Amino acid sequence: MSSSGDVQADCSRCFGLCCVALPFTASSDFAVDKPSGVACHNLLDDFSCGIHDRLRDSGFAGCTVFDCFGAGQHLSQHTFGGISWRQAPETAGAMFAAFPVMRGLHELLWYLADALAREETTSLHEQLKARRREVMELTERDAQALRAVDLNAERARTGDLLGLASRLVRGQNPGPEHRGADLMGARLRRADLRAANLRGALLIAAEVRQADLRRADLLGADLRDTDVRGTDLTDALFLTQPQVSAARGDENTRLPVGLERPQHWE
Ligand code: SF4
Repeated sequence: MSSSGDVQADCSRCFGLCCVALPFTASSDFAVDKPSGVACHNLLDDFSCGIHDRLRDSGFAGCTVFDCFGAGQHLSQHTFGGISWRQAPETAGAMFAAFPVMRGLHELLWYLADALAREETTSLHEQLKARRREVMELTERDAQALRAVDLNAERARTGDLLGLASRLVRGQNPGPEHRGADLMGARLRRADLRAANLRGALLIAAEVRQADLRRADLLGADLRDTDVRGTDLTDALFLTQPQVSAARGDENTRLPVGLERPQHWE
């Protein structure tokens, strides 16, 4: 049985929801168009991917940067009790509609877990735990009630608290302020970005190679094709696996505990 607090994706316990529920647009990320609710033609009967070991070479790079934060197995095993949309096709519509909402809630749980893991936020822990309980309660709803969740409102409520946590983690002498900045293609090689505020910053194709981003707040920063080779992201705040997977790193990139070095970096 999946726990609502589990924010690590476990595809072996999911009914391939990201491969069915989400729409694709043919692009450099997806080789084909696919509407929401239609299974990808590469999805096998056991809900595994038939081209898992060659996704990028097959034109499905987008699949290598997606992460559901554990929402897939939660819906599959908990909300729908382990009965798949193939076994019970009448549940498919509700299951697929609930998936983006559950993913959004699990992403919030990821950020809250990160904030709670920081010693600097001790004074906020009770508020962070209370918010986490509220979000977890939402994830326990049935599929119909899940669809009624106002995800934007939940993000706003959580975001305020994460902002307070960010200030505590970045300390009395925070780094550069780049919140929401357009840094597309910026040349920031070896830059001192310790404790910087990079929330929502556009760092697409920026060169952040060998820069120091320890304790930098990267909530929602767009790291697509960002050069993070040799970059120190050890204590970066609110960094997620999709952000890491979308960037270009190497064996010298230092990542926070809990995030994996993508195979395609090799
Ligand atoms: S290519 Fe594989 S991982 Fe991507 S959507 Fe299709 S089945 Fe899923």
